[in-house]
This record gives sequence, structure tokens and C-alpha cells, in this order.
Amino acid sequence: MNHYPRSVLNLIDSFSRLPGIGKKTAERLALHVLRAPRSEAEQLARNLMDLKNNMRLCSRCYTLSEDDLCGICANPARLKHLICVVEKPSDMAAVERSGAYKGLYHVLQGVLSPMDNVGPDDLRIKELLARVRDGQASEVIIAVGTSVEGEATAGYLISRLHTFPVKITRIASGIPVGGDLKYVDPVTLKRAMEARRDT
Ligand SMILES: [Zn+2]
Repeated sequence: MNHYPRSVLNLIDSFSRLPGIGKKTAERLALHVLRAPRSEAEQLARNLMDLKNNMRLCSRCYTLSEDDLCGICANPARLKHLICVVEKPSDMAAVERSGAYKGLYHVLQGVLSPMDNVGPDDLRIKELLARVRDGQASEVIIAVGTSVEGEATAGYLISRLHTFPVKITRIASGIPVGGDLKYVDPVTLKRAMEARRDT
């Protein structure tokens, strides 16, 4: 591969850093960009920088947003007294696809993982407790995954939330043990949301 000029090698190197992209695929992508019209390459570069420049976290639920409040938090039709707690934006997208939920969210940005040095202060747990303390919710639905870390996170959240006068429920039925929400099909997720149980 070393016979390529530096610009091509640099692009191959950038592509090969993306998850799931090996050297061969990176080479193919780089050569595709090389052959593509200039406008296509410019669009790609612009989209990459737009993403980095415009993306931030919603100031209420901490999902990805281009504005202070995300589209769901800013939507007056959403049920403001329900907060569904998920690990990451892709899990929120999975719950949205199920169509079973019309409340708000809270995105933890991860799960507790002592092995990776992720403790409660590394997640958006303080912010969740503040929302509940401010009386923003009558029910908190815990919808983290069922991995060991997910279970530990759910247990921790329940212990902290029990100090507030709020109903705490968990989605459970049909979510496979060790399962990541984004791999659960929408129908199963819909049933799991509808059959959520008290903790
Ligand atoms: Zn939001």
C-alpha cells in the first residue's frame, strides 16, 4: 500500500480508524473519494465538520442535539411527567421506533463499569436526580440494557430514586439477558414498555 502518494495514504489511515473498517475497505473508500466528483468530496468534508461543530447535548435530557433542547424535549405534545432513562442516544432511537412511548428521556451517556473506571459521577445521574427532585417527573422508567453493568446501573438508580416520591418502573419482559436495546425489535420493545413493572 506504500506505493500510494501521501494524500491517499493519509485518507486510508483516517478511514481505517473508523469502527469496523479494515485496511482493505479503507483503501477502497479512499480510492472511491479520489474518483468521485469534487462536489461529493466537499460534501463529505462539510458533513464531517458540521457534525463536530453543531452537535451538542440537550441541556435537559443529554441526548445529541443541535439546539439547547432536543426535538423531543422541545415538543409540547410529549408527556412531561414521564422520564425514560436509557444508556445512550441509539437506545433512545430504539424506544422511539417502537412507537410505544410518548414521554421524555434521560440519556445517561453510559453505564456504571468499575472495570473501566466509570462511576456515578461519570454519568448524567446527578442531572437525572435533579430533574426528579425538581418535580419534573411522576414516573421514571428505567430502560437500560440487561448486561451486568446495566443491571448494576439500574440497581444504583433505583436506590437513589427511592428517596423521592416518584414511581419507578423497569421495562423487562422480552428484553434478552445481556441485551442491548438497539438490537431489540420494535414490537418486543413496545411490549416491554407497555408491560413495565414497579421496582
Ligand atoms: Zn432533550
